[in-house]
Amino acid sequence: MKSYKVNVCVIGAGVTGLSISLDLAKLGISCIVVNQDTLNLAASLNFAGVLHSGARYAITDFPLAKLCAESSRALLQKVPFAIVDRTKAYYIGTDISHESYAEDLIDSCQMIGINPNYVAPEDVLKNEPHLTKDIKFALEIPDYVLDPVILLKAYIEQLEKQNVKILKNTSLTGISFTNEQWNIEVKEHQNEQLSIIKADLVVVAAGAWSADVLKLFGVNILFRYISGSMAVIPQKLVKRIISFCEPSSSGDSIIPSYNSTLIGSTWRQQEISVPTPAIFPEVKEIVHKASQGLQDFNFNLINHTYSAVRIAFDENHMTGIDFIDRKKKRDYHILDCEKLYSVKRLISVFGGKFTLYNTMSKSATHLVCDKIKADFREDLLEYNVSPPTQKPDFHLGSVEKHLL
Ligand SMILES: Cc1cc2nc3c(=O)[nH]c(=O)nc-3n(C[C@H](O)[C@H](O)[C@H](O)COP(=O)(O)OP(=O)(O)OC[C@H]3O[C@@H](n4cnc5c(N)ncnc54)[C@H](O)[C@@H]3O)c2cc1C
Repeated sequence: MKSYKVNVCVIGAGVTGLSISLDLAKLGISCIVVNQDTLNLAASLNFAGVLHSGARYAITDFPLAKLCAESSRALLQKVPFAIVDRTKAYYIGTDISHESYAEDLIDSCQMIGINPNYVAPEDVLKNEPHLTKDIKFALEIPDYVLDPVILLKAYIEQLEKQNVKILKNTSLTGISFTNEQWNIEVKEHQNEQLSIIKADLVVVAAGAWSADVLKLFGVNILFRYISGSMAVIPQKLVKRIISFCEPSSSGDSIIPSYNSTLIGSTWRQQEISVPTPAIFPEVKEIVHKASQGLQDFNFNLINHTYSAVRIAFDENHMTGIDFIDRKKKRDYHILDCEKLYSVKRLISVFGGKFTLYNTMSKSATHLVCDKIKADFREDLLEYNVSPPTQKPDFHLGSVEKHLL
């Protein structure tokens, strides 16, 4: 049996686990990452791909909008190679009644440092000929497309350079706590290799699967889940993100991803953590909304759908609540399990928006440092990430996803 001795064991290799691991490594804190399977089902590879400027939440959730504004600006510097291009999004109005929403949106955006410009309908159609001719106006907003495949690959390469071991396709097979230390037995699927990890602290970053992992550590939380699906059109119908000058709804984001277009996402409460395929009413919602923005849009244009799951939290960071309202909070949550559940040296981190990962990672790293009595040096976390040396052979929306 192999044995690893580290300060921190991170469980989950989505954007949450990988970014926390790299921040810890930059502070000289030794860590290891364990991921159960390939990243195929991870929300980080199955999300909508929007780097949010904050505008989308500026009216409904001002604190989240402010966090998105700060975090997206930081990511434009930190991981510029993962931002597919910097063509600003259009938030379109197809009815004159949308103008009052647009005015409110402009006011709220200004409070987070964004100054949206009006674009005349003829210019919108010149730049985006597939959009409906019913457009009355558009606002230009700095939302961009973020390629998570390139970003995660870059993080994995950086972690390898820092000698952080990533155990992929690996299950947790036994857990105990002795002498102020976690002992985590794991099994690699490919070669059945068993290993023991001895860690001063564990960070659970297992996304929608966190309840199952936390149970192994003696923390029982009842989660509620929201499944969101995206439709993939195998043609590039738009050059920039198209959204609507209206409150959020299913199918109101039209997103270019290389040579395809993604439309979503939907919002369906479910009892299980595993992503489930889109059901027919969801596809209908997508087609209904997208056809208000795109000319001649219909079911036949959709090649496939993909889905991801988020966990429902309420305003007091409590789970187990009904979460059917799209306006509910979507920022990240860091649970100190010692404080909340009397389980020592265990932290659970739930990524909110992908856009917030940089901010979330710094806060989680700060808490880890407090717990293991290490120096938290924020200046050491102001690093830029290098692009990956090899380009991945799939991207957001691809049917095939491979082991990164
Ligand atoms: C439909 C949808 C659309 C979204 N769109 C956007 C968007 O446009 N912009 C934005 O900013 N955010 C968006 N988000 C949010 C974003 O996708 C998530 O916040 C982010 O990807 C969460 O990352 P994570 O690392 O916490 O979880 P994940 O990416 O799910 O990673 C969790 C990892 O843990 C692993 N794991 C699970 N169980 C175990 C175990 N027992 N042992 C070891 N490993 C385990 C999994 O294999 C997985 O790799 C969206 C979310 C959804 C659901």
